[in-house]
Amino acid sequence: MGKVYLVGAGPGAPDLLTLRAARILEQADVVFHDALVHPEVLAIASRARIVPVGKRCSRISTDQRFINRALVEAAARYDVVVRLKGGDPMVFGRAQEELDALGAHGIECEVVPGVTAALAAAAELKISLTRRGVSRSVVLATPRIGTDEPSGRWADGVAAADTAVLYMGVGEAELLSNALRQAGLPERTPVAIVQNASSPACTTLHTTLQELPQRAAELAPGGPTLLVLGEVLRQASRAEQGEDLGRSAHPAVTRAKRA
Ligand code: SAH
Repeated sequence: MGKVYLVGAGPGAPDLLTLRAARILEQADVVFHDALVHPEVLAIASRARIVPVGKRCSRISTDQRFINRALVEAAARYDVVVRLKGGDPMVFGRAQEELDALGAHGIECEVVPGVTAALAAAAELKISLTRRGVSRSVVLATPRIGTDEPSGRWADGVAAADTAVLYMGVGEAELLSNALRQAGLPERTPVAIVQNASSPACTTLHTTLQELPQRAAELAPGGPTLLVLGEVLRQASRAEQGEDLGRSAHPAVTRAKRA
């Protein structure tokens, strides 16, 4: 019986992969990977069978039960099985379902952390998610709800935190903005939209909760996108742009470009 590694591939840039992840990939017999994993990362697994199972792959392979079963079957056939996930496996990565399925079959597992998208976004923005006197708490949240889940209190959790990073939400910016205002967030709350964090194609855009739906609609589609909310952005924007975001009629757009 083999061992299954749930490995974080990081936010996109291949050189943000950890050394531990690289060593395990080198030894892998089979790699089941998410859609947005960089080809350079997959190339490290030079002796492995590579199996795409991400959202943008075939419908059947997206099904979580299919992936769980595939991992269990692979552990019976191979010594080193890797489930490679974008960012960190334990943040909106459905790692628990996989760990539970493997555990139920008595299969040994190990989790290798990766850089989650929120941290790559903070790096792109050059804005600390925590800041003395401004932000002592950070919440990672998503308004995206599974079909069999209750609607939950994601907006209350976001409103209660000093800084929030919202995964998988930009496509529903209007609903999201309304829910957050209902939960008590002021409409002038600064928001940053970050697309393709850690990639040369990264785009960042500063706005407010009120203007978010309009600004999100202007964003060219393509690439994973998240939102950062909180006063840390206002402070940083002032320092960087010499303006008060809350009063600005035309919030700044910046495009990060790297060679
Ligand atoms: N486990 C992953 C998150 C998976 S959910 C992690 O830890 O990062 C997928 C969502 O993550 C996307 O819809 C988007 O909101 C966010 N995301 C992933 N990679 C990103 C990137 N490079 N830039 C911006 N957002 C990203």
